Amino acid sequence: MGKEVLGKAFEPQSVERKWYRYWEDNGLFKPDLESAKEPFCIVIPPPNVTGTLHMGHALNNTLQDILCRYKRMKGYNVLWQPGTDHAGIATQNVVEKDLAAKGTTRHEVGRDKFMEVVWEWRKKYGGLIINQLKRLGCSCDWSRERFTMDEGLSRAVLEVFVRLYEEGLIYRGDYIINWCPRCHTALADLEVEHEEMDSHLYYIRYPFEDGSGALVVATTRPETLLGDTAVAVNPNDNRYGDLKGRRVLLPILNKPIPVIQDRYVDVEFGTGALKITPAHDPNDFEIGLAHGLEQIKVIDENGKMNELAGPYKGLDRFECREKILEDLKDAGLLEKIEPYRHAVGHCYRCKTMIEPLLSKQWFVKVKPLAEVAVKSVEEGRTRIFPRNWEAVYFEWMNNIKDWCISRQIWWGHRIPAWYCDECGEVTVAKTTPQECSSCGGTSLNRDNDVLDTWFSSALWPFSTLGWPDETEELKTFYPTSVLVTGFDILFFWVARMMMMGLHFMGDVPFKDVYIHALVRDAEGKKMSKSKGNVIDPLEVMDKHGTDAFRFTLAALAAQGRDIKLSEDRIVGYRHFVNKIWNAARLVLINIEDMEEIAPGERVYTLADRWILCRLSEVSGEVAGAIDDYRFNDAANLCYRFVWHEFCDWYLEMAKEALYGDDRRKKATTQMVARDVLLAVLKLLHPFMPFVTEELWQKVPGTDGSIMIAEFPSSADYPFDEDATKEMDIVMEVVSGIRNIRGEMRIPPAKKVNIVVDVGNEKQAKTIRNNMAYVRSLAKVEELSFTSGAEKPEGSATAVCGALQVHVLLAGLLDFEEEKKRLRKEIQKVEKDMEVGRGKLENEKFLQKAPADIVKEVKDKVENLSLRLERLKKNLEFFEGLDDR
Ligand SMILES: [Zn+2]
Ligand SMILES: [Zn+2]
Repeated sequence: MGKEVLGKAFEPQSVERKWYRYWEDNGLFKPDLESAKEPFCIVIPPPNVTGTLHMGHALNNTLQDILCRYKRMKGYNVLWQPGTDHAGIATQNVVEKDLAAKGTTRHEVGRDKFMEVVWEWRKKYGGLIINQLKRLGCSCDWSRERFTMDEGLSRAVLEVFVRLYEEGLIYRGDYIINWCPRCHTALADLEVEHEEMDSHLYYIRYPFEDGSGALVVATTRPETLLGDTAVAVNPNDNRYGDLKGRRVLLPILNKPIPVIQDRYVDVEFGTGALKITPAHDPNDFEIGLAHGLEQIKVIDENGKMNELAGPYKGLDRFECREKILEDLKDAGLLEKIEPYRHAVGHCYRCKTMIEPLLSKQWFVKVKPLAEVAVKSVEEGRTRIFPRNWEAVYFEWMNNIKDWCISRQIWWGHRIPAWYCDECGEVTVAKTTPQECSSCGGTSLNRDNDVLDTWFSSALWPFSTLGWPDETEELKTFYPTSVLVTGFDILFFWVARMMMMGLHFMGDVPFKDVYIHALVRDAEGKKMSKSKGNVIDPLEVMDKHGTDAFRFTLAALAAQGRDIKLSEDRIVGYRHFVNKIWNAARLVLINIEDMEEIAPGERVYTLADRWILCRLSEVSGEVAGAIDDYRFNDAANLCYRFVWHEFCDWYLEMAKEALYGDDRRKKATTQMVARDVLLAVLKLLHPFMPFVTEELWQKVPGTDGSIMIAEFPSSADYPFDEDATKEMDIVMEVVSGIRNIRGEMRIPPAKKVNIVVDVGNEKQAKTIRNNMAYVRSLAKVEELSFTSGAEKPEGSATAVCGALQVHVLLAGLLDFEEEKKRLRKEIQKVEKDMEVGRGKLENEKFLQKAPADIVKEVKDKVENLSLRLERLKKNLEFFEGLDDR
């Protein structure tokens, strides 16, 4: 037939490279913009340019590839839009480390040169993650690869910034931000890591201005008192009585500040009296706004005390703390110090302690944007899977705060704002303005800050499709079909894409969001380098093949449940890949002399009718599972069908016709075997792209890539309910005989004789018509039928449906030997049980042994007792034979 014979074993390495190149060379990943087919589009969550493929990426991209390949085969016009993210702080830090190794810093090389260095770095290393995604088999249209800093996307960023500014949705304002004094940048709340630390609680006396005693205030940060502008107590705290209108003197500075009342104050903390420093604490900032308090900034961007800190000016914030404590003590204002453990925020990049700081930053006013984004999910225009994430989304969106979008780094989209030297006003524009928009002055300086990395990724679903131009891509593929992502970036990214997409495109960015779980180790622990439990996807693909790896991820990807991954699992599915290979090999060998015969000539066996009917059902079920994002169900349906129905039953039964001498039967079974094999390859292709393509190409009569073959659907194969019913009874009889053979330890080579007691004529007829299957699969010599006759002497019986199947044991087994063996084994099991039970009754053992050991012993005893029961039953059976 012109197709070469299949090798004995599947060798993933060469096959994977070969087919990936073939798909790319033939443009199979590309959508057709002219096509009338229904569009399907996914935008890839852009990996950081600094990234290398980890388990999270592997899972995320495997699921996306499954969807894309499936939809292509279902006849959709598919675009999987790829690209990478410039990852502001992450990339800048990597390059800064390089510079440090060379003994220099970004400040020494200067901004322009530094940007050049980063671009060079990205040219050199930025393609790494992309090549790793190709290794995984991702069918992205790489000719459309984008980068958040490329020209087109930068244009979209400028457009969005300027439009939002003009609409009053971007503003510059004083705000309390998380500041990293080391990285010199503001951090989003989500970028701050909170860590429990041992610290102290300092009780400081604030004397009343009128000299009548003092209020004692507890704080962990005495150095910030220099910026206090009030002391607050809870209005319901009756320890303090009426403090309305009273003032206290700020220690050291001796400045009068008001005592205010606010429900926010926690009466349980310290003394219930709280010092308020609006410029250096986010909660105080809010209280300050509510009470119109002055904001006094005493710590600068380097973490040092500034001129408003009076005598402490120039000290580092931690030095200042020591000094101020001494001074308070000397002044008799330090009442006591208590040990205190609490969570302290640290920079997620460099671990420096965060300084909440009042600072001029750029913000997006998100409330109006968030309201629309909430509504679109409420209305079901975007659905989030699993559905419980919708509640989390609502909760966050309804309590959303303005988004601080400026970052004090260099690598990123520079903010398009210019300050006038003459009037100090700001001019925002897409291109460098010639003059100040307020006074017409010409001496302008551009803002030094860049935008938060998530600002450009928030535009990803439309910027990658060509926005702000009205492109064919946008018309065809926006809104995109589904976003596949991890829950950790639901707020960083998904929510912001929702807001930006709705605002600028007037429609949701995606119809569905599928949130997948975490990949953990076999015990359910998070994978981390320090724990040494990381499984490297690239290593695993090298070792076991990409198909086995992808299938494992899919088979474990149950909605809402974390994935517990071990290499054993992957090895298990590698066996599955080999099983498919061997099944295909068997079919290919047996269809070499295949004769295509006309439909009228075909003679279908029961096995043929049954496997086609099952294929009809499974095809529909697999498609339904993928449509519902039940990847694990889809994978497991394929697995069970291929292994336990196609291989275990069908291919065994098919031998009957294949090796028989009925020409029409043989030809029919050859055609069915081939068709089912092709269908199996198609069902599996989204999960295992490489091995399925390799096999597809070997089957006579296939044309082109499996990638563009039609996905099997229920209607493609005859649904035959009778065949399933008939097959059920045949399988039951075969299994019944096999069980007895196993129980009674009948040597596999020995054939048995069977008497079937007919209880139901229809079922008996099925067995009569399919005796050949029973003979070959259950190793049966003689098969006879009786009706209501007595149970034959020396036989064991299986009840199968309405039939009684007697397996004649006389002559096969030495009953006396068998009884001896059983008695001996019973003794041994009883002894083992005694040992186990002894342990479980031993108080000392129970106290000392770890819980899992105790459980192990318990399980063992339980298994032994089940075994004992079976052995006793068998012995009874043989003893019963004597009594007759
Ligand atoms: Zn830092
Ligand atoms: Zn001006």
